[in-house]
Amino acid sequence: MAIVLPDFYEQAADYHKWPPCPCGGCLVRWGFARPRVVEGVDELITPPRARCSVCRVTHVLLPSTVLLRRRFSAAVIGEVLECAGCGWGARRIAKAFFLSVWTVRRWLRAARANSPVAVAGLVRLVKRLEPGSETVTRSTSPVAALAEWAGRLAGAMARSARVPGVRELAWRVASWATMGRMLAPRPMLA
Ligand SMILES: [Zn+2]
Repeated sequence: MAIVLPDFYEQAADYHKWPPCPCGGCLVRWGFARPRVVEGVDELITPPRARCSVCRVTHVLLPSTVLLRRRFSAAVIGEVLECAGCGWGARRIAKAFFLSVWTVRRWLRAARANSPVAVAGLVRLVKRLEPGSETVTRSTSPVAALAEWAGRLAGAMARSARVPGVRELAWRVASWATMGRMLAPRPMLA
């Protein structure tokens, strides 16, 4: 499984700062996953691997700049989703972002499949940060809804002073909030 660290370079270096396993157990060092080059991220990423002392599942600790199983950064993929949410077709997006139409279609398909669960997770966090806020989704398509809620969560986090800046952080926040699984090949289950 993947665990996304909001503050990767600081947290990954010090296992005392690692979050617990989703089961509640403690994570211990378990070597490193293979280094990876991610388009849109400057550094080569070598994620630490961790093992839970309770359920014994191994996890890969990822920065929120990436998404699970995707070779492009959360920010790049997020921009593509925003364009799709605004009604751009796959061909137009592919041209604008120098991507293959095939890649764009694959991302959009994965985003549509993961959208209901991902959006529900993002809405939950917005509600936790701003209990009184209205949570009606204004977007009509699943991809647009994902973009809408990534933005709304980033806004809520910025207002609560947990993170600076908003727009460029929206997709990192979304990656962290969905455990990197926003475009998971096998859609998330509720
Ligand atoms: Zn565990």
